[in-house]
Amino acid sequence: MSECLFCKIVLRTIPATLVYEDDTVVAFDDINPQAPTHTLIIPRKHFASIAELQDSDVELLGCLMLAGKKVAKLKGVSDSGYRFVVNTGAHGGQSVFHLHLHVLGGRHLAWPPG
Ligand code: AMP
Ligand code: ZN
Repeated sequence: MSECLFCKIVLRTIPATLVYEDDTVVAFDDINPQAPTHTLIIPRKHFASIAELQDSDVELLGCLMLAGKKVAKLKGVSDSGYRFVVNTGAHGGQSVFHLHLHVLGGRHLAWPPG
């Protein structure tokens, strides 16, 4: 079995607070939330990061973003606003190497990020 933490969440071998799922993605709350709403959306299929995606993965990327929109609605932050983040690689601050989209909301988010 994969040693990847987020693959284990997809397979339900470790627990997570699920927010949304469909045939392509699974969304669950971040274990260390940085905002009142902090949900992660991952593809069921393992990709280490966005750097592994090909032009042919355009539909998968669209599914991730549209799932983010649905999660924002489910979490009640659609009207107040929210932010999508995809950390990539060392300088991007990525710590889990299964592609994921952060959905952050519920407070004013500063810009630029630190
Ligand atoms: P990143 O730093 O962009 O790779 O984001 C990884 C995120 O995964 C962090 O915000 C962590 O808090 C979160 N995380 C790590 N382990 C878990 C877990 N078991 N369940 C939910 N979120 C997790
Ligand atoms: Zn994985």
